[in-house]
Amino acid sequence: MKNEERRIAFSRMAFYRFLTFSFFFFYYLCSRKSNNMATIIYPSPIFGPVHSRRLGVSLGINLLPGDGKVCTFDCIYCECGFNGDHRPKQKMPSREEVATALEAKLQDMQQNGPTPDVFTFAGNGEPTANPHFPEIIDDTLRLRDRYFPKAKVSVLSNSTMIHKPEVRAALMRVDNNILKLDTIDPLYINKVDRPTGKYDVRKIIENLKLFNGHVIIQTMFMKGLSEGESVDNTGEEYVAPWLEAVKDIAPQQVMIYTIDRETPDHDLLKATHEELDSIRDRVIAAGIPCTASY
Ligand code: SF4
Repeated sequence: MKNEERRIAFSRMAFYRFLTFSFFFFYYLCSRKSNNMATIIYPSPIFGPVHSRRLGVSLGINLLPGDGKVCTFDCIYCECGFNGDHRPKQKMPSREEVATALEAKLQDMQQNGPTPDVFTFAGNGEPTANPHFPEIIDDTLRLRDRYFPKAKVSVLSNSTMIHKPEVRAALMRVDNNILKLDTIDPLYINKVDRPTGKYDVRKIIENLKLFNGHVIIQTMFMKGLSEGESVDNTGEEYVAPWLEAVKDIAPQQVMIYTIDRETPDHDLLKATHEELDSIRDRVIAAGIPCTASY
């Protein structure tokens, strides 16, 4: 083979190798993307309104960055995905940014609808992790009173910041102070909720009692496996001590629920209707109103 022919053959081979590599690299990127498509990163600071299973027409207020997740837990069932897969580059919204965006949205909803039932602090992580959370609650209550005085203000929080008096005081001012307590078993917490810092469930329970009943306990019940180990917290060994803690906290209400969307950990399973109904009925029998969402 002449030198020129050899050079052309070599170039063709390199080109086909490049095409093959590109195809597989593109395929790899697409499959990574489709895994992440199961999870949701919300716009910030306002999103929706969305229709919530538990709360009705809900206008979302997201105090975390709009390009990723910030949470003091890293739950294996989090609809936003794992913390490590969604590290944000943007900052958390400021008090002024939240107030301006919220007022613009409320003016739009007043003209075009729909009427919100509730303003819900939720989104890409833990709302009380925003250092301006207490002031933002005050702004939100003021704007709620001006535009939709019948709407409720709800906060969904994982309870990790309620040791701070200013956070507790702000949560006392909202209508629905919805705080997570999935279990009181430290091993289960480390396996499922995966706190990113120090977490002492006994202290959390003591702080939950400080709300004097102005608190709604929210608990996820589920089944299935994570890293090959069971994460079923519907059994008596989990439910009985959890129920004792709930009675001790004496909340105004309990909300139990199960997985509703795809989760970043793919081997999790829903608790059944019967299991949730049975736990709900035990809470009600203890004199505490309780709802179950399936
Ligand atoms: S506490 Fe909520 S936002 Fe944080 S990781 Fe758990 S489910 Fe996600």
